[in-house]
Order: sequence, then structure tokens, then C-alpha cells
Amino acid sequence: MSMTAASATVGSLYFPRSRIKGCSFQPRMTVRSVSSQQKSTVTTSVDEILTNLQKQCATPLPVLRHVADSMANDMRAGLAFDGGSDLKMILSYVDSLPTGNEKGLFYALDLGGTNFRVMRVQLGGIDQRVIATEAEQVSIPQELMFGTSEELFDFIASGLAKFAEKESGKYHLLEGTKRELGFTFSFPVKQTSIDSGILMKWTKGFAVSGTPGKDVVACLNEAMKRLGLDMQVSALVNDAVGTLAGAKYWDNDVMVAVILGTGTNACYVERMDAIPKQPTQTAHSGTTIINTEWGAFSTGLPLTEFDKQMDAESINPGEQIFEKTISGMYLGEIVRRVILRMAEAGSLFGNSIPEKLQTPFSIGTPHICAMQQDTSNSLDTVGSILFNEAGVESKTGARQIVMEVCDTISKRGGRLAGAGIVGILQKMEEDTKGLIFGKRTVVAMDGGLYENYPQYKNYLHNSVTEILGQKLSENIVIEHSKDGSGIGAALLAAANSKYKHTF
Ligand code: ADP
Ligand code: MG
Repeated sequence: MSMTAASATVGSLYFPRSRIKGCSFQPRMTVRSVSSQQKSTVTTSVDEILTNLQKQCATPLPVLRHVADSMANDMRAGLAFDGGSDLKMILSYVDSLPTGNEKGLFYALDLGGTNFRVMRVQLGGIDQRVIATEAEQVSIPQELMFGTSEELFDFIASGLAKFAEKESGKYHLLEGTKRELGFTFSFPVKQTSIDSGILMKWTKGFAVSGTPGKDVVACLNEAMKRLGLDMQVSALVNDAVGTLAGAKYWDNDVMVAVILGTGTNACYVERMDAIPKQPTQTAHSGTTIINTEWGAFSTGLPLTEFDKQMDAESINPGEQIFEKTISGMYLGEIVRRVILRMAEAGSLFGNSIPEKLQTPFSIGTPHICAMQQDTSNSLDTVGSILFNEAGVESKTGARQIVMEVCDTISKRGGRLAGAGIVGILQKMEEDTKGLIFGKRTVVAMDGGLYENYPQYKNYLHNSVTEILGQKLSENIVIEHSKDGSGIGAALLAAANSKYKHTF
């Protein structure tokens, strides 16, 4: 477990536009294309498409402020009653966070979107904290995302069983207990207790039959039973909630956690008396963690025709619009759609429109990220990625245009994610003046997109600073909580252990 600190003001903008100046590419060249619907002749050039895209994706300060305010309002509406807004504002049932006193061996299983991870942790109490930890990652075969619930959960349980078999001597259970598991499940779940929850819907491209409407803990327990794996789920945890719990274990100023990976989500510490839809206030601490499910947010987002087409063709049209604008599953696909248009209507790559370029999701977010790291004069990496992933041969000028498209889409995503974070902080501050901006407040971040995409991360940090201003943002620390959710889930399994512990 490592925590890499980065303040909201870190880093400088990477802005490849400067390289465009003086490039040899002449995007003004136009071709004629016929719109099948209107049967009228239109001319479109690459630079027209790019200029329009940049205009539509622009996130100047008023847009960011509007998104932040809308996020705060939608949060409030979602807390008022179920169905009050796009944001589900789900109670996590995590009322008591880990204290640091937890001891013993605990397992964690994390089903994200691209991978599932298994982890074991030996906890040593307040002085020793995390004595040992081991983790393994398995990617989820594509066909399981469209299969049956039993197939998916059997695959997961067997991965867990194989991992458990390799437990070495440094891990030991407390006497009289069996292995307990914190289950991180990063899809919208209506939690009914700390160790049960009904799947509301699949997101992030999953369409597994038979799970929605069922208790996912029961699904996992049944699969473990089928395999003869003697383990029990003690805590069902959303990944954002796990990240918050894990990060708060090390730093008590953590108040918000945000996931930016395949999908996106955020959670935060809320006062029980600020949740009108939950009149029975049971938490001893007076606070609970609210899982916002902010991927479903949609108010005031600057969207383009490319976003709308991608959404319309997705397996969940009209849903998860914020997620589709800012998260890892979609950024590469938006870029592909733009450059396909540029190729078709503006001959960006000459006359060829290879099948690969026309194939949805052929360009992934890691690819657009890798392209943006290319600092060579002739943009060789961009060229080879375009060739390998999209099947196109490109000249330097076309590669520069592609870089601009990648920058435009990652910039919009990062800046909107930053505005969302400010929205959450604003909501908390409005309720309790000084709670957030009057002292050090930490936002714990996790997920492959935030972790691996430096430009995106910088845009996010800069957006937070821009909206809050230099002075307020000095108190806001946005920090990467590596593996926070895995450790967090194990800690929550310990804190909610089935056995009576003295910790
Ligand atoms: P999950 O969200 O499935 O739990 P992760 O948090 O590991 O898993 O995030 C994986 C996602 O992060 C990938 O689907 C991809 O969108 C994004 N990602 C991974 N590596 C990179 C990278 N180098 N650049 C940009 N995005 C990346
Ligand atoms: Mg994850």
C-alpha cells in the first residue's frame, strides 16, 4: 500500500496544440459527402470537424461552475427521496469505519469492470497495521460479460480458490475463525445490510443474465459452495466506499473518494441528519458513507454528436452519461468516432477507411493515452498505434490532428471530473461551513484512468484549482490511494467480522 500525495495544484498543462503550428498538413482540403437523410450535398473538412469538436467540448469556468452546482443540487435531490435525481445516493451501511485496531487474516475480492483482483491481508492492529499483503489480478474474459450469472460467479470463485491455495506461512487466521472476505463490487447495488445487496443494473458494458434483482453476495456464496471453498463474505463494499475506508485508515482527513477506471463513481462522508430519505438514524457515529453513483449524472454536460451516437448505440442508452463522458471505457471510443468522421468526411487518411477504424472500441483509452505521451517530431508512436489499432497509414499532419482530438476528449473528461469533485465538496461545505474548505480535506483517488493518464490527471487537478481559486484549493488535497479499495474491503470485512473480536 502506498499513498502518493499530489496536491490539486500539481503539474502543468500539456497542450500539444502548439505543435500544430507550422505543420505541413493541409486540413483545409475538402471532400463532398452526401447526407443520406437530407439528400443534400455538404462539404466538411477536417479542421471544421476539429474546430466544432473543440467548441462543443469546451469547459470554460462558467461551464465547470454550472456542473459543480448541478452536482451539488442533484446530490441533495437524491438524498431527499429515492428517485429524486439521477444520483441514487445509496446508503453504504458502512457506519463504523476501521479504527486501526483490526487484527487477523482477511481476504478481499474486487470485481471492477476489466479485471477482478483478489487480495489477502494480515492485519496487526494499531502498531503494526498491515503486516503482509498479496494480490493477484485476473482479466475477465469478454464472453463472460455476456454470459450467465452462474458462469461469471463460478469463474470468480475459482480464481479466488486458486489464490487461497497459495496462502503461505506468514498468513494465519485467529483461532476458531474461518476465512472472511470483503467483496468489492463496483456496480450499482441497493444495499440491504453490510453483507447483502441487490444488483440494480449492470454498467460498463456488462450484460450478464440473471444477476439484476439478485443479492450478489448470495451469488458469490453459492458459487463458493459449488466449489467447496470455505470462506464467507462479511462485507459487501462498493469500490469507492472501499477506497474511502482504506484511505481513511491511514489519514483521517479523507472525506471523499473517487474512482476513475473503466467506469467512475464517488462517495463521501455524510451526516445521518442530512439524509431526509432515511429517517431512522441508527449510526452510532452520526455519519455514514453515501455512494453517489455519480456515473448517472447528466445535468449541464457539454456533449457532442459523437457522444450521443455512442450512447444511442450502447447497451444502456440514456444512462450513465457522466460515466460515458469521463471514464476509461469510453474516452478512446469517442476519439475513434471523431477520427472515423474525419476519415470519412475529410479524408484524414487519404481514401482508406479500414474496417478496424470502423469497429467500435478498437481504440482504447490506454491507446489515446500512449499517443499523448509521444513527443517525437514525426509522432512515430501515434503512427504505429493508428496503424496497429485502426489499420490506417498516417502522415505527420494527420497524426497531429489525432493528437488534438485525444487532447480535446481527455481535457473535457478530466475537467468535468474535477468539477464533479468540487460539487461534492461544495455540498458538504454548504451544510457545515468550514468543514471542508476551512481545514485540510483529502479526496482519495483510485482507478486505472487516474493512475495512468498524466494529462487527464493534470486537467482534473487544474479544473479543481480553477473553480475553487488558489486560496480555497490550498486546503484540498487530491491524492492517489493505491490499492486503497482492496485493503479497504479487507478492513471492512474485519470491522464487520462475524466473530466477536476484542478489536
Ligand atoms: P476497473 O475500473 O475495471 O476496476 P482499473 O481501475 O484498473 O479497473 O481501471 C482500468 C481502466 O483504466 C481501463 O479500462 C482503462 O480504461 C483505464 N486505463 C488503464 N490503463 C490506462 C492508461 N495507461 N491510460 C489511460 N487509461 C488507462
Ligand atoms: Mg476497480
